[in-house]
Amino acid sequence: MTLNEIIQLPAEVSDKIAAGEVVEKPYNVVKELLENSIDAGADKITVEIADGGLSLIKVTDNGKGIMPEDMPLTIKRHATSKIRSFEDIYSVKTFGFRGEALSAISSVSDFAITSKRDNFDVYTLEKHFNSPPIIKPATSTRGTIVEVRNLFSKIPVRKKFVKSSSNEGKEILKFVKNFSAINYNIDLVFIRDGEKILEFNRSNSMFTRIKDIFGESSCFEIKDSCEGISIEAVAGFPDNQKFRKDNIIIAVNRRIIKDYQLMQGIIQSYYRLMPENRYPFAFVNITIYNENVDVNIHPTKASVRFFNPKEVFDFVYRSFKKGLDGLKLEYDRSDIHESKRYFENNFIDSKVYLTDLTTILDTKNSTQIVKEESESYLPNDFNIIGQLFKTVILCEKGNDLYLIDQHIAHERVLYEQYLSENRTVASTILFEPIIVTLDHKAIDYLKDNQLILQKFGFEYEIFSKNSIKVSAIPSSLMQKNIEEEIKDLITEVIKNSNINNDALALTMSCRNAIKSGDYLTKFEMEEIVRNLFCSSNPFTCPHGRPIIFKLSKEFIFSKFQR
Ligand code: ADP
Ligand code: MG
Repeated sequence: MTLNEIIQLPAEVSDKIAAGEVVEKPYNVVKELLENSIDAGADKITVEIADGGLSLIKVTDNGKGIMPEDMPLTIKRHATSKIRSFEDIYSVKTFGFRGEALSAISSVSDFAITSKRDNFDVYTLEKHFNSPPIIKPATSTRGTIVEVRNLFSKIPVRKKFVKSSSNEGKEILKFVKNFSAINYNIDLVFIRDGEKILEFNRSNSMFTRIKDIFGESSCFEIKDSCEGISIEAVAGFPDNQKFRKDNIIIAVNRRIIKDYQLMQGIIQSYYRLMPENRYPFAFVNITIYNENVDVNIHPTKASVRFFNPKEVFDFVYRSFKKGLDGLKLEYDRSDIHESKRYFENNFIDSKVYLTDLTTILDTKNSTQIVKEESESYLPNDFNIIGQLFKTVILCEKGNDLYLIDQHIAHERVLYEQYLSENRTVASTILFEPIIVTLDHKAIDYLKDNQLILQKFGFEYEIFSKNSIKVSAIPSSLMQKNIEEEIKDLITEVIKNSNINNDALALTMSCRNAIKSGDYLTKFEMEEIVRNLFCSSNPFTCPHGRPIIFKLSKEFIFSKFQR
């Protein structure tokens, strides 16, 4: 009888424990196998699953294959051809390579791997659940086939985590789609329960592949690089708004990862172009070059970080920001009073985004309502027709009718004016200063933000513990009840937890913009439209609502059967 209480777990058991970390669900198996195929340089991959991956997951690739003598090692824990030394673990190249996947997968399934390396014999390694592996000769073409059957079938605890096979199947399909968007340069076939669900031929553009997979075309490309890192992405136009964040897919060196911070960075780059509870659509691949990058990581960290996260975050955020800015109409502000305004676009040739009503009305299919425009918009191009419902400015340009929401258009104009560096809001000095009483929270705020408020046209001094003496106000407030306006404005700004320039500009522009229902003269309409098209983004308001719709002459005429 042994008295030991502590024993070393047999490899069989410890492998299964480790397996729990690598393969939690069938989709993890698909991910690991696909990544192995990519590592092997495959450019043609077939994925087949049955029963949500529970009865079969089979991945066939045309990669470089495995040397016969390496076959037994494929399923050994920590056996990998991808790292050689301890130092390698900390280099970028070894991202995710720990030689654990096949060992883990083969310990919780009936497993087989067949591989052919050019000029070598083909072998199959089979490992049935709980029995030792068998290796036998086989025939096959160049590449590797991995078959995983009866996953978790003998491990009830694991099975508990697995949802219905149809759910697992959906998860796998979603992953395969995302994977093939990121790895657009490979041929990919996906078969589910005997039926070919996806088939893509290799493409040289992520944009095209994404259009093929998701039917998404209201998006633009981002490509950028700086030392040691580059980014390639396809991102939705700001009016391509999603309800969920899971339309943002991030990959590093073509491996899909989950990174909350990077995702936030991407969402933030759409700040003020989208309402707060809407999210962009984006596929992002970040390439990190081993040689150049500072792999600033700490050896004791359980999960290896391969790069300086802050640097990567900044880079991704800036690339998106640049891409989005590139969509806006560019013009030379100094030329504004001459007729020589011009537009140039850094990233995409004069593409802007604009919802075209014609497509909605024509097809009754509102999913694809955004059209890329290749026109430029010169502020003086618009001929004002009139005002509709005291809310919408109608104007024509070329062969299109434009409908512009007067309130949000004006709001966009004011917002940018308020935020622009060298402009202060027109201010009117009061003939007689007025005393406004406020609570002490408001007084504290006013004490601290005197300069910001000055920029917005306010001049005041703290008069007492609960009042201020106002000597100048933004001219736009002149017609209104000054005391009430100031109180409302301050309360609103304070309520807005992040008191800053931007929040103030937003509040002010919303409050001061002409309202729907206000009658406008032709001159006033011209003024708004001209200023709108001088703004950096005439198409969505600072909250992300659309400002402009258009209808084509062709469409209107077709309704009259002309
Ligand atoms: P890792 O990918 O972390 O090295 P795995 O357990 O996923 O570990 O794979 C172990 C080894 O098996 C790999 O390092 C590679 O040499 C080999 N291998 C696995 N899949 C393939 C494949 N599809 N083509 C070529 N070699 C493969
Ligand atoms: Mg692997």
